[in-house]
Amino acid sequence: MKTLTCDLCDATEQGETFEQWMEALKPHYAQAHASFMKEQGGKSPEEQKAEMQKWMADNKARFDAA
Ligand SMILES: [Zn+2]
Repeated sequence: MKTLTCDLCDATEQGETFEQWMEALKPHYAQAHASFMKEQGGKSPEEQKAEMQKWMADNKARFDAA
């Protein structure tokens, strides 16, 4: 089990795998970073996909290093 902070604030979530950690982070994102999510929703699907891929790569690296 790894504990990793949110990439936008100091909140921590736990997960056995990166996928589990991401699932655990989702409700936190929806609650604490609603405006950020809303901002993302206003972008084109291509942009959203590219940013999601970058987010996953960045955070997977953080998870693996934790
Ligand atoms: Zn956060």
